[in-house]
Amino acid sequence: MNREEIKKIIRNVPDFPNEGIMFKDLTTVFVRHDCLEWLDNELYEYYKDKGITKIIGIESRGFIMAPALALRLGAGFVPIRKKGKLPAKCREITYTKEYGKDTIQIHEDALNKDDVVLVHDDLLATGGTMAAAVKLVKQFGVKKIYANFIAELDFLKGREKFDEDIEVHSLIHY
Ligand code: AMP
Repeated sequence: MNREEIKKIIRNVPDFPNEGIMFKDLTTVFVRHDCLEWLDNELYEYYKDKGITKIIGIESRGFIMAPALALRLGAGFVPIRKKGKLPAKCREITYTKEYGKDTIQIHEDALNKDDVVLVHDDLLATGGTMAAAVKLVKQFGVKKIYANFIAELDFLKGREKFDEDIEVHSLIHY
């Protein structure tokens, strides 16, 4: 398995969820053990020496690889979810999307200032979601924040939404 093969296996679904969007469907990768193993190894090799203590998955496609990687790295897993889903006291942030606004939340006792945090999502498009997640994590005063994606749509320039202190890495580029 390699990058180019994974790219071929990712399914393109035109006009989902809205007309004009070419949706990158990663379920065709997740369904195959050889692909999962490749993803897990690539992520592990890239992040193994960075001292990561917590991996955050962004609801919901970020929940697929984040816990697997947390196990490999000896780190904890923390969910960031849409407002109203987490049961205990939360910090939250509201951000503007293409159509309207969205609010995401994290438990207020999930992180502390000694944490080195990797925030993971499946795909970087405009970067609005991850930029909001990173802002939320910054409120905890953690030591360092990494942002990771399986795939990145380079032409949308989502990467430009992040300050220089955030290290952004994607396995596959379009
Ligand atoms: P954004 O905030 O624009 O970077 O959007 C990121 C979120 O929307 C990610 O959680 C992705 O799962 C999803 N997303 C946006 N555009 C696409 C796309 N073309 N294909 C697959 N997922 C997408």
